Order: sequence, then structure tokens, then C-alpha cells
Amino acid sequence: MSSPARVVIVGASIGGLTVAESLRDEGFDGEITLLGDEPHLPYTRPPLSKQILAGEWQPEQAAIRTAAELDGLGIRVLTGRAATGLDVEARTLHTDDGALPFDELVIATGTRPRPHPVLAEASTLRTMDDALRLRERMETARRVAVIGSGILGSEIASAARKRDAEVLLVGRSGSLGFGGVGTLLSDELTRLHEQHGVELALRAELVGAELAGAGLAPNASGSTTLAFADGTSRAVDLVVAMIGGTPRTEWLAASTLDLADGVVCDHLGVAAPGISAVGDVAAWLDPITGRHRRVEHQSNAIEQAIAVAARLAHGGEGAQPVPLFWSEIHGTRIHAYGWFDPERPLAELPKTSDSPGTVSGSHDEAGELRGVVGWNAPPRDFRTARAAVVTTIRPLVAHS
Ligand SMILES: Cc1cc2nc3c(=O)[nH]c(=O)nc-3n(C[C@H](O)[C@H](O)[C@H](O)COP(=O)(O)OP(=O)(O)OC[C@H]3O[C@@H](n4cnc5c(N)ncnc54)[C@H](O)[C@@H]3O)c2cc1C
Repeated sequence: MSSPARVVIVGASIGGLTVAESLRDEGFDGEITLLGDEPHLPYTRPPLSKQILAGEWQPEQAAIRTAAELDGLGIRVLTGRAATGLDVEARTLHTDDGALPFDELVIATGTRPRPHPVLAEASTLRTMDDALRLRERMETARRVAVIGSGILGSEIASAARKRDAEVLLVGRSGSLGFGGVGTLLSDELTRLHEQHGVELALRAELVGAELAGAGLAPNASGSTTLAFADGTSRAVDLVVAMIGGTPRTEWLAASTLDLADGVVCDHLGVAAPGISAVGDVAAWLDPITGRHRRVEHQSNAIEQAIAVAARLAHGGEGAQPVPLFWSEIHGTRIHAYGWFDPERPLAELPKTSDSPGTVSGSHDEAGELRGVVGWNAPPRDFRTARAAVVTTIRPLVAHS
């Protein structure tokens, strides 16, 4: 395969930037254009709900590369520039500032928070600007409600407790989720929140919100009364809604690409000839299940980006990403690696050190170790467990 002359990448964040850098690492010497609609150079999102929200980091500490470094790599970065449409046949990207022709296009546009049906104006968190707004509001909020029982809901609840606010964490499903591990850690997370004074309402249906002042608006102060389906209500100073993300494919709606839950790709990230997708927006064919699925973890975006860049530069398949995810909630470090079957409980694995942390494993029906979770585990223990995970692909569902 001959390498393309012009690669255009849409989405100037970890996925898009990693494609650009990896192309250079692979020796690609053609044109690389990286465009993104945010006003910032690429930064990393995991600190937004942790160090930035807790006031421990300044925004520049989340930056990934300086303008000079990007310049040195010969990557043309266009910030504040939005893709508005795609002509697949003509290999042309349309933007809010003219058209960009390409030989290869990589889509890395991520997700946006899903608005809450009852609380469309509640604060939310995806970008650096969201994080700075939320941080400012958290400085004065004494009563915080976090709607959403996924990992980001847990992280924001933890950040609010660090500031000594009263925190109510609201979910509907009855359990707490942890990324690709699903709800297998729900009991441990419940205990952790309770030990740190978070009030949990995990089977609560929010039916309304009444504002006193402009309580819900992201920049406003004032209190909000939340009304629940069981007739109870609660007054809070700040409401943060984290109920999941929607893939940012709106700009592709008129294109011929297959868009289901994200940009549908094969197991190499190919969406159409000359067009690939990586990261949170990309629904790659999962060789384990034979289904298309999006993975919203930073390491997945990085590994998919490295694989796509290697394919564009030299052809071939590249390595299959293995999901890796980490978090820190109330000071507890949680790492997860591999695949987890929601039907099979985790089993504690033998430790190699005396530390109080634990490592648990997820085994498939053949008894093979497919995933591991480290709960405050020393890095060495987690690394040892991780190395034992079977990552060879044995499809559970046949696919062509
Ligand atoms: C608060 C927070 C905390 C997180 N913590 C963790 C963690 O601890 N561990 C972990 O593994 N993962 C974490 N994640 C998830 C991780 O950040 C994502 O998986 C990762 O950012 C995905 O990278 P991406 O490049 O695919 O998408 P994104 O980082 O979402 O970047 C997409 C970029 O494309 C831009 N864009 C969208 N549409 C257009 C358009 N039409 N034109 C131009 N640009 C466009 C967006 O503005 C954005 O800048 C966290 C996410 C958030 C929000």
C-alpha cells in the first residue's frame, strides 16, 4: 500500500492528536491537518473531573503539546474550526471556513453530554471550559446533586466531597457503574461513597426541578428544588447531570457513512474507503462479541489511533486495543484492564504483596482470565495480574 499524501483529522483531542503524532512516528512525511472546534490546543480530559475540579491543577497542566512542539512535528493545527459536512465520494471535508480535500480522513470527534430530559440546563462536564465553570460554582455550592450513577457521576461526587459540600448522588438503575466493568463493582463503590459521606439515591426518578433564582444555569447562583417520582423533594445549590454521552456525528448526517451509535467501522477502524474513525465517536467491530461498540476510555482512543496511523502509513492491521481504564474516587485508585462479563462476578486473585489493596479477575466460560480490576492495588500487583490476562481473540459470536 502506498501512503496517502494528505491526511486530515477531525477532532483535536487525544484521539486525533495521537493519530497525527503516530503518523510521524511511523515515518509518514505527507501533510497532516488536525482541526478541532474548541479554542484550545489538545488537552487531556481525565483531570477535568479530578485535579481541575478539585482546584489542584491549573488548565495548562492538562495540555498535551505546545504549539511549538506541534509545529516541530509538521502538524498543521486549526483550532476553533468546525467540520460541517463530508463528501465521501469526492474526498472533501466541509468546514465552517471552507473545504479541505484529503486522501485519508480520520474522524475523532468524541461525544457530547446527553442533556437530562428534566434538567436540560443543568451543569455538565466534557470540556475544559465546562470544568472551569463547574469549578467556580463548586467553590460556593454547599449542597450538590449529581445526577448519573456512572463513573463520572462518582468522580464529580468525590470532587464535591473534597470541598466539604453535602452531596446527593442520584441514579435510576439501583447500582453504580464503572466504565467497561459495568456494575460489577457497584457494592464496593456504594460502600466507598457511604464511607465518605455521599448520600446515595440509586432508584430515584427525577420528575421536575423548580428554580429559585437561576439555580440550574451553568453560571448562575441560587437554589433548585428537585422533585422525585416518589413525592420527595430536595433543595440544592448546584445540579450536575452526567447521564452519558452522544457521539458527535451530527455533522455527518448528510454523508453516506453508516451512523448508528457512532461512526460504524470494521475491526480496523475503517468506516469507508479513505475514511477511518477512532476514540469515543467510533463504533469498531468488536472481535470478542462480533458487535459494533464504542468504548469511552482514553487508552482506547490512544490505541485505536496508533493502530490506524500504522495502517495508513504502512498497511497491515495494527494491534487490537485491549480496554484499559482507571479512576480515582475518594482517594481510592481503581484500574481495570480487559473485558468483563456482567453475568460473571469478579473473583479475588492471589496477591504478590502485603498491601491492603486487592486485585480481582473476570474469567470467561472456559475459565480463562479476561479482565482484571485493581482496587488500590500497588502498580506491581496490577501489572502482574494484567500480564496474565488472555488477550487472544476467540470470538463468542461468529461474524464475517
Ligand atoms: C470529565 C472526564 C473525565 C474522564 N476521565 C477518564 C479517566 O479517568 N480515564 C479514562 O480512560 N477516560 C476518561 N475519560 C474519557 C476520555 O477522556 C475519552 O475517552 C477521550 O477524551 C476520548 O478522546 P477522543 O479524542 O475520542 O474524543 P474527545 O476527547 O471528546 O475529543 C473530540 C474533539 O473533537 C471536537 N469536535 C467535535 N465535533 C467536531 C466538529 N464537527 N469539528 C471539529 N471538532 C469537533 C470536540 O470539541 C473535541 O475537542 C474522561 C472523560 C471526561 C469528559
